[in-house]
Amino acid sequence: MSEECHVYMVRKADQEEWMAKAKEGEGIAIVCVRAAGQFMNDLSTKPLHCTCCEALFSPSNLPEAFIVLIPVKHDRDNFDVQAQGVCCICSRKDDKWILDNGPNRERPSIH
Ligand SMILES: [Zn+2]
Repeated sequence: MSEECHVYMVRKADQEEWMAKAKEGEGIAIVCVRAAGQFMNDLSTKPLHCTCCEALFSPSNLPEAFIVLIPVKHDRDNFDVQAQGVCCICSRKDDKWILDNGPNRERPSIH
């Protein structure tokens, strides 16, 4: 993805916080929770790897965190959100490490 994106780290440890925000109607939280849910759905139908270390996810090795990419310039009602999974080992690193080791992007703005 060459487009400039906002990057959000959604960690399982913070999941309740994200869900609470989504319930309150915070747009970004809704998008992030949905994207993470979509990734989990995809996981059951196709092989997906950790974005940092290429570990293959499975029902016994589920992502512990997600990187959610939202295009900076997006159409309010129609835009592509990308979620990438981070395995339990990589998720122990800090956000900067994960983003440095994840897929390359142009000037990501981190939140
Ligand atoms: Zn990993």
